[in-house]
Amino acid sequence: MLERVYISDLKNYIGQDVIVDGWVDVRRDHGKLIFIDLRDKSEKVQIVFLPTHQEAHETAKSIRSEWVLRIKGKVNARSEKLVNNNEFNGTLEIEALSVEVLNKSEALPIDISTDGLEINEENRLRYRYLDLRRKRMQRNLRIRHKIIKKMRDYLDERDFIEVETPILTKSTPEGARDYIVPSRQSKGKFYALPQSPQQYKQLLMVAGIEKYFQIARCFRDEDTRSDRQPEFTQMDLEMSFVTQEELINLNEEMLIHIVQTLIPEKKIQQIPFPRITYKEAMEKYHTDRPDIRENKDDPNLLAFCWVVDFPFFEKADNGSWTFTHNPFSAPKPEYMNDLLMKTNVENIITTQYDIVLNGYEIGGGSIRNHNPEALKAVFEIMGYPEDQISKNFGHMLQALSYGAPPHGGIAWGLDRFVTLLLGEDSIREVIPFAKTGEGKDLMMSSPSEVSTAQLQELNIKTLK
Ligand code: ASP
Repeated sequence: MLERVYISDLKNYIGQDVIVDGWVDVRRDHGKLIFIDLRDKSEKVQIVFLPTHQEAHETAKSIRSEWVLRIKGKVNARSEKLVNNNEFNGTLEIEALSVEVLNKSEALPIDISTDGLEINEENRLRYRYLDLRRKRMQRNLRIRHKIIKKMRDYLDERDFIEVETPILTKSTPEGARDYIVPSRQSKGKFYALPQSPQQYKQLLMVAGIEKYFQIARCFRDEDTRSDRQPEFTQMDLEMSFVTQEELINLNEEMLIHIVQTLIPEKKIQQIPFPRITYKEAMEKYHTDRPDIRENKDDPNLLAFCWVVDFPFFEKADNGSWTFTHNPFSAPKPEYMNDLLMKTNVENIITTQYDIVLNGYEIGGGSIRNHNPEALKAVFEIMGYPEDQISKNFGHMLQALSYGAPPHGGIAWGLDRFVTLLLGEDSIREVIPFAKTGEGKDLMMSSPSEVSTAQLQELNIKTLK
């Protein structure tokens, strides 16, 4: 019995009979000779159908692009004048002995032979399962997988454990609108989808886990922006008994390790990454995510920098104080007294650190308030009434009162990071089933209406 061989391995089978499975990339009919380029997940190969193998030759006449075939054939070295050094398998071809049509295909609604960037994006998203067949998208998904695997291995080797946290949860303030899910069993009540695992990861520190990470899906109901998606992925991490310096170093080493082992053609401009204070960044670059590349024409240049020393609070539109990054952050130690006394609010500096790459914020984190009084003071400065604080954050304040260790962490925006490493322009090029800027899944037609019965069960009426 012959076994299936992946097309990228055919070089090891010259002179032997093999089975290859895959899709018809193109077919060239020269009458006597019919050629097919067959494609599987690994590569492409030229198949030649000769009139001597009559049945296979006859079938090949009717075969069209994107049909799915199983071919039994002999791997032949090409004669010197037929070698094509531009093709992966340019030194060989398969002489088809028999062919089985596993499935036919209609003509595709989009061209998948190009990089796809010339095609209207809505069409690409509507037929995403075809769009993902193109070489560029296959590469993107594979490298995304490798990057995530590197992170997992790197952190596992350093004794971090990955812990899954709930998707059906309670509203947590990260500065965006929540997606909410009605509860059937508690009528009139709603879950919120997590904007991040922030509270759970801190609760895991209270639980004594000490070193947590998660490749976590997060949900934020934000207005259309080209680089935003309703759901996105974070590399989320939290550690106990740790300093800002240790967290910055750990993350910096992991970033360097990923780039150097997976994308060695990229050059990191400066190691260790420069650290810029918020004040310097605003004065020098007029932004808190400066693009410090020395040469912006170089697509292989990665200029990382840390931005530190952000103000903790800023004035919201209604005149009250709000947090600039994360309400769970601790102030720098020299400002702890101001926080607790709620004085000098405009000058309190937080332990927040952002990691910026080529002008994009790709991550951010902080040391957290592990004393309940300090966390409570943050909400009081923001003007939250006592009952709202205990209703929304009572569980956090209570947890912190049972011997919470000092802790801190970070989250990376994985989609943006992968986009930059791959030199793509949009995060939708690295998210397999991306939504449009308006948050629509054109392939599944979602969001969509639900049945009256479903609404009734939830005790929900929609307004016309
Ligand atoms: N949870 C924060 C965010 O999603 C990041 C962090 O501080 O860990 O923005």
